[in-house]
Amino acid sequence: MPRPIHATVSRSALAHNLAVARRHAPGSKAWAVIKARGYGHGISRAVRGFAEADGLALLDIDEAAKARAREWMKPILLLEGFFQAADLVDVAGMRLTPVIHSPDQIEILARVKFDTQIDVYLKMNTGMNRLGFMPRDYRKAYERLKSLPQVRNITFMTHFSDADGPRGVAEQLLVFEGTVQGLPGERSLANSAATVRHPQTHGDWIRPGIILYGATPFSDQSAAALGLKPAMALKSEVIAVQALKRGDTVGYGSGFAAPEGMRVGVVACGYADGYPRHAPTGTPIVVGGVRTRTLGRVSMDMIVVDLGPVPNAGVGTPVTLWGADDLSVDEVAQPAGTIGYELLCALAPRVPTTEVR
Ligand SMILES: *Cc1c(COP(=O)(O)O)cnc(C)c1O
Repeated sequence: MPRPIHATVSRSALAHNLAVARRHAPGSKAWAVIKARGYGHGISRAVRGFAEADGLALLDIDEAAKARAREWMKPILLLEGFFQAADLVDVAGMRLTPVIHSPDQIEILARVKFDTQIDVYLKMNTGMNRLGFMPRDYRKAYERLKSLPQVRNITFMTHFSDADGPRGVAEQLLVFEGTVQGLPGERSLANSAATVRHPQTHGDWIRPGIILYGATPFSDQSAAALGLKPAMALKSEVIAVQALKRGDTVGYGSGFAAPEGMRVGVVACGYADGYPRHAPTGTPIVVGGVRTRTLGRVSMDMIVVDLGPVPNAGVGTPVTLWGADDLSVDEVAQPAGTIGYELLCALAPRVPTTEVR
């Protein structure tokens, strides 16, 4: 028997969340962002769950090949474009849509000959300062791309740094619109947070990621409040029980000391499964359907939980780490000092994962 830990990915939750994203932007087409193995959910499961999307957005040509192998015929956007000339064989062969964010990419494209035409996204750096052409160089890049016989449609794109926060999108949007004004072509700007909160950014193609998996991009609004359903549930079981006396400690570094006698459970889940090591004592966890808390340090393969609220729990009692029993991944991420995105993406390959309806 394998360890009791396992994850499930709900296809209907993925489809539901995509429908929620679309409801926010009814006039736009939707890329489903499935980078990082579909935010940890698995490329194949993401491809099936997002069958109704207008396209898939990802990073690796390998992931694109997997999607094409699963008979995904609609567009595929390469969010960082191609990295070297050799990639263009796959870009053309699999009809991928690369993001062009640097002059080097344009020069590579200009040098390589292929007989089909490809669509490209031209990325503008409007303030994020990661990828993209500065606004003053953008139109020149556009003209150069337009002159290449390899290029068919050019879509204008940018990415927001603060769509989820108080700074918002106004400054970046102004720069973007001022620069592309009058140019013919589609526009794509909105990640999940902008899709939900900034309808003026929807453009022709939204690019939601995190909301599709049922987690929130916001620190002040839960996934449930957004009408989303968690797509991933991580579950395990209690594998041992200890009775502590007052002053007994738990785990490495004696990270927790019992203030009085108490029963604690040992759960088969640790940081090598993707549970955050920085989750402190008190991180919420559900044991036998009852919400309780973790105790002491998370170790590689185990965590310890307070059985005080669940006196009947024992070896074999089911445990939900996140994604079911009203325990969201965001509630686990927050005390650990991170975001739901990181926990989902970090689900370890050693955790057996199955797809459910
Ligand atoms: C990851 C990514 C997205 C999706 O972001 P979410 O916050 O998960 O919605 C959209 N656009 C680009 C360019 C990205 O890299």
